[in-house]
Amino acid sequence: MSVIVQKFGGTSVADATKIRRAAERAVAAKRLGHQVVMVVSARGKKTDELVSLAAEITDKPHPREMDMLLSTGEQESVSLMAMAVHALGEQAVSLTGGQVGVLTDSSHTNARIESIATERMKRHLDSGAIVIVCGFQGTDDDLNITTLGRGGSDTTATALATVLQAEVCEIYTDVEGVFSTDPRLVPEARKLNQISYDEMLELASVGAGVMHSRSIEFAKKFRVPLRVRPAYSDEEGTLITPASDEADSVVNGVALIRNEARVTIGGIPDRPGVLSVIFSQMAERKIPIDLVVQDVSSGGVAEISFTVPQDDLAETLTAAQAAIDELGAGEIQSGTNVSKVSAVGVGMRTHTGVAAEMFSILAEANINIGMVTTSDIKISVLVDRNSADDAVLAVHRGFGLEKDQHPTPRIGFVKKISEVGDDQQKQAQLEQDVVARLTNMEDIVVSDVSLDQAQSRVTISNLPNSPGVASQLFSAVADGAVMVDMIVQNVGAKNRTNISFTVPREDLDQCLLLVRAVLEEWPDADLSFEREIAKLSVRGIGLRSHTDVGRKMFQALFQAGINVTMLNTSEILMSVVVSSAEGEKAHNCLHRAFDLNS
Ligand code: ASP
Ligand code: MG
Repeated sequence: MSVIVQKFGGTSVADATKIRRAAERAVAAKRLGHQVVMVVSARGKKTDELVSLAAEITDKPHPREMDMLLSTGEQESVSLMAMAVHALGEQAVSLTGGQVGVLTDSSHTNARIESIATERMKRHLDSGAIVIVCGFQGTDDDLNITTLGRGGSDTTATALATVLQAEVCEIYTDVEGVFSTDPRLVPEARKLNQISYDEMLELASVGAGVMHSRSIEFAKKFRVPLRVRPAYSDEEGTLITPASDEADSVVNGVALIRNEARVTIGGIPDRPGVLSVIFSQMAERKIPIDLVVQDVSSGGVAEISFTVPQDDLAETLTAAQAAIDELGAGEIQSGTNVSKVSAVGVGMRTHTGVAAEMFSILAEANINIGMVTTSDIKISVLVDRNSADDAVLAVHRGFGLEKDQHPTPRIGFVKKISEVGDDQQKQAQLEQDVVARLTNMEDIVVSDVSLDQAQSRVTISNLPNSPGVASQLFSAVADGAVMVDMIVQNVGAKNRTNISFTVPREDLDQCLLLVRAVLEEWPDADLSFEREIAKLSVRGIGLRSHTDVGRKMFQALFQAGINVTMLNTSEILMSVVVSSAEGEKAHNCLHRAFDLNS
């Protein structure tokens, strides 16, 4: 018999009426012939209330006791839900995470799931009961109660759907589904019928807070079909699947992280190992760094800039100081009046000019870009916080996301969809092979390291720091239908902008012609290029939020004595550029670091 998992968030079980409605939904599914598992969150603001209560007692609650306390919110919900199902004339049994056998590690308040037993749930399902499980909690191997981090019920639901091989995992919530951007910011935001795991992962990591991002990592790893649906109506919501069918769209979502901080470590030696030291210090404190830019060095001195969530800034500065102490030189600068705007879409894999289009849209809105980084399906820019809302609106409108069909005339095709499709299939297979060997369900998955020796790099430094510069440059390149791959931009010393990007080597000469023509307008700018570079890409799931991946990667390269000259990070892809002569060596050393054969 098919199993369906239905998860109800706090707002969807806030009072007796809502609990009854949720119970009716489960009963209806049961009466259609499914076995039903419900995963329920704490009611309304219950968890927040418990957190405040603890804060009234002490400002340093012991994490173990915090978990003991927070887990009670879900226990209240499941028992009430079981009573509601009973009242509808069906059997039901409520179970805590520990009773099910959700085994986690012992990181209290942020535990990761190691395994889940199915025997007890199956026994109840087979006897005809609806099984109602507390979200967000488990126990460690010493039977201490643990919680999975705020919002963790989504992760419980996806994990249960995985082990029960559920037909679908339905996430019932107080919104209509996943939107093209936050509807509170942009009222014309559109509900998406479908979105891919990759897009959802990137969006969740850049602040589109519909779902706990770990639950999407789970769904992607174990191929669980997820549906985000409103609890208050019968609308279909949004289906999250391996590939999105929104075929006409290049960009599917725009997200904002309003409170970002920017950190620059300057005056550091330009030699292998610098990134390794910085990433290790950050990883030790679990700080996910983003928009990492290593500026072209002058006089043997390098400068590295990156962004972190503003809440992590104090910790980050401590880590940066520790990195400087280790490196023996350097100075730190930081600023907080910045926000990160990201556009996400799988169509970026098959189209040229998407970055150029985004930069033009921002230039037309007179918004200056402080930093840029790209991955294969995401472009992120850093802007002044007071223009953040305008930037989101402009990008959303510029890509026509409010419409059902949103063709973007200035964007061209390059790769055939079929080629990318084959590629995707191969990667999915590699990923499934790694997943099949996992010891713990939430272990990090790195599925592939690839080497691309057919790229060149172009660097333009000393550009003015004003709106429209990136736009003019990349529009010119896009007009030549050149597929620009990695882009990093940073505003460095003396308030000048530096931009680096990679292009296919066969297009380099044409690209240089196009760039030179644009540069006539900025005679102070310096153009340089490297015809032969090696680009390495590490693919996986949840790479940036599992801060250990960056650490491992840069440590391995450092130990092999390899200097990294450019990098991009995202949830599904981390890419670095090294010298062409060291490409093979870097490829081998990363294969070894991540235990990948072949
Ligand atoms: N009740 C927990 C929280 O508020 C877990 C959840 O709702 O997913 O974070
Ligand atoms: Mg929630």
